[in-house]
Amino acid sequence: MYNQIGPLSLLVFQGTSLCNINCSYCYLSPEERSNNKKISFECVERTITELLAGDFVKGHFTVLWHAGEPLVLPIKFYVEAFDRIKALLPVNIQFTFSFQTNATLINKEWCQFIKDYDVEVGISLDGPEFINDKYRLDKAGKGTFDKTMRGITLLREYGIPVNIISVLTTYSLKYPEELFSFFHALDINSLSFNIEEIEGHNTNPTYQVLHDGQIRQVVTHFFKTFFNLHLKSGKSFKLREYDIVTQKILFTDLQAIKPFDSELTNTYSIITVDTEGNFSTFSPELISQIDAMGNSLVFGNVFEENAFTKALSSEKFKAKYLELQTGIALCKDNCSYFNVCGGGTPSNKNSEFGRFDVDETIYCNLSSKAPIDAFLELV
Ligand code: SF4
Repeated sequence: MYNQIGPLSLLVFQGTSLCNINCSYCYLSPEERSNNKKISFECVERTITELLAGDFVKGHFTVLWHAGEPLVLPIKFYVEAFDRIKALLPVNIQFTFSFQTNATLINKEWCQFIKDYDVEVGISLDGPEFINDKYRLDKAGKGTFDKTMRGITLLREYGIPVNIISVLTTYSLKYPEELFSFFHALDINSLSFNIEEIEGHNTNPTYQVLHDGQIRQVVTHFFKTFFNLHLKSGKSFKLREYDIVTQKILFTDLQAIKPFDSELTNTYSIITVDTEGNFSTFSPELISQIDAMGNSLVFGNVFEENAFTKALSSEKFKAKYLELQTGIALCKDNCSYFNVCGGGTPSNKNSEFGRFDVDETIYCNLSSKAPIDAFLELV
């Protein structure tokens, strides 16, 4: 009944939800951010063993450590976890380790470890100090800009590429020129924007003060200005939103690429595992969400025998898969952006409506349609 299963492209380990800082737009609750439980080595090994047993790993995949702040766990934890993963994977399987970090804990030892294991690093930084420190605060309420910049400086000293993820809020959307100048001067490898989302603990994003049409206009204007500056600079760094939009628009008709968002709606292309061994698929965020009926979107646990294969035949998974396909069909019927979107992100459909069988979300208006509109207004 499934269109396609796997292959695995992204394995997300939520190794801990503990975080050393306290961003005001965080999707984790204060309790989750203070919970120091960590994933066990057995859980990590079971995950890999079960994925191999189900034949879901082929080609290349990324092992991303995300949720909370991964670097609150000691280097020796990752040395052992990484070595155990490497020992289990056959030589023909290629993989990359990756951290999504606030970079405030980066020191020379971390840089050496990152180099030794060739780890990709994504850094959360919202922009210059007056923008970053509006919402990215430590537990004492102080800004985190200086500490993150210290981490970035060290990474660069070690020749480690700096990839930035910047959250866009109603505040930062006012400053496209300032953001561009800042990131241009920082000599980064890549920049990705995440529009603040209605997700988990963050039920009141800053843009709720604006009505839907107004915020979409603001976001479109932001991207138009930013894309323009990016082009004028000769594309001095990779800009995810520009690259995605141009790929989608230029290649979708030629069917040279599959729809960009397809991994988010394809079974087991993305798998997320939490500290208890519970797993989910489609959008990584689903693992901590519930639907409108109060049911979790966890589909199994890696400690069960044949965990990933067994989950596919469960009534729960089948029902959610059909719900997802209904939502994609609605998108196809109702949305002129479908060919370049592919049907949206399940986690945003669920966090906004509590179900997958819907089409338009606030998120898709701001994160899919607005950048496409901005690009089309420029050309
Ligand atoms: S832009 Fe929104 S409504 Fe359109 S296809 Fe994507 S998710 Fe569906």
